[in-house]
Amino acid sequence: MKELKDYREDIERCVRCGTCRSVCPTLDTVRRESHCARGRLTLIEAYLNGEELGERYLKYIKECTLCGACYSSCPNEIDTPEIILSARAEYVKRKGLPALTTFTLKSLLEPAPLTKFALKVATKLKNLFFKNAPFESGLLSRFSLPLVGDGRLVPAPADPFFLDRAHIRALSTREDYGSLKVGFFVGCGINYLLPSIGESTIRVLEKAGIDVAVPQGQVCCGIPALSMGDVETAKRVMTRNIEVFERYGFDRIVTSCATCGHTLKDVFKLVLQDEPGMKERVEEFAGKIRDVTEFLVDEVGYRAEKREKSAGVVTYHDPCHLRRFQGISEQPRRLLEESPYEFRGMKNPCRCCGLGGGVSFTNYELSIKIAERKAENIKKSGADVVATACPGCIVQLKDALHHHDVRAKVVHVVELL
Ligand code: SF4
Ligand code: SF4
Repeated sequence: MKELKDYREDIERCVRCGTCRSVCPTLDTVRRESHCARGRLTLIEAYLNGEELGERYLKYIKECTLCGACYSSCPNEIDTPEIILSARAEYVKRKGLPALTTFTLKSLLEPAPLTKFALKVATKLKNLFFKNAPFESGLLSRFSLPLVGDGRLVPAPADPFFLDRAHIRALSTREDYGSLKVGFFVGCGINYLLPSIGESTIRVLEKAGIDVAVPQGQVCCGIPALSMGDVETAKRVMTRNIEVFERYGFDRIVTSCATCGHTLKDVFKLVLQDEPGMKERVEEFAGKIRDVTEFLVDEVGYRAEKREKSAGVVTYHDPCHLRRFQGISEQPRRLLEESPYEFRGMKNPCRCCGLGGGVSFTNYELSIKIAERKAENIKKSGADVVATACPGCIVQLKDALHHHDVRAKVVHVVELL
């Protein structure tokens, strides 16, 4: 992975035009120059020029959602999210990570048997820490907890976890495939919190005639660690995933998580391509990755049986990691046409929901404030259901709608097929 000093030329291409100011969700919420790409690049340049930058520097770098809106609009194509990731890595290399963050990342991303046991006990004890939300399917924290925050709506943990279910375990040793050998990359959001998306993915793929395998031993995609600046943990989990999937010789690897998809397609190359012997392996692995909506529309030509549009109105939220980083926006909308819902677009569907870049954990108040505009736009659309294609966005949107008293259901596109 490139070091921060290697981005100096990119940073110097910034002509301070300010185009990025008009699209940045953090600037829009905080209204300070330090919270847009131009301000952040100025700070990083100052650091590279030898200025000692303390906690405030770290705060501005940490409070970027890595949404990519600045990159998409920048006339000089400066990839600020990539530069921010490198700045976080540099900071961690110099100062280290807090012990609690290191422990949490290690436990959740590389689960040892003991961690799995502890997670299961915590799942059973959830009523001690959470109460049921009155109108939603989810839990409200009773008090402020690490990574959760006071009053945050979170999904009830999966019980059992998706990868531990007997019928999913059975799919790890599939003998026969159709014309394409397809594997499913699950990701943490589906495994620990929203297993119904995984179940729907398997169901829809099978309905479309695709026999899918679900390899055991797969782990987190690594983006939470990288977002926190922990490059070494990210490298380990990424390499582990490549090893697990290589054993199968899949033609395609499908994911139902926009963030995992972007990470597997693009970030793996960024992090691993300079590691000894990894360049070709990571290229081959990344070339097989497909978002489930992309796969169903572009390669399978998915069609549902004709149904009355009588279930209500659905709108669609574009995950940043799907639309901006993977260029996928038409496919999920095409699939929604196959659902029994009438489609109605919302204003600014690709405005960041506020979850990304770890902001939801480092500054929950900012994260949920960013989501306020999204909740307003959903409310104005008059939709009964919000569909999207990222488990992270689903968790954030459910919480945001709860905070702003908008009674719309939030689901993944595949759950409506
Ligand atoms: S849009 Fe690009 S060139 Fe213009 S200020 Fe922002 S980062 Fe700099
Ligand atoms: S990635 Fe998003 S939040 Fe970060 S500076 Fe760019 S527009 Fe702002």
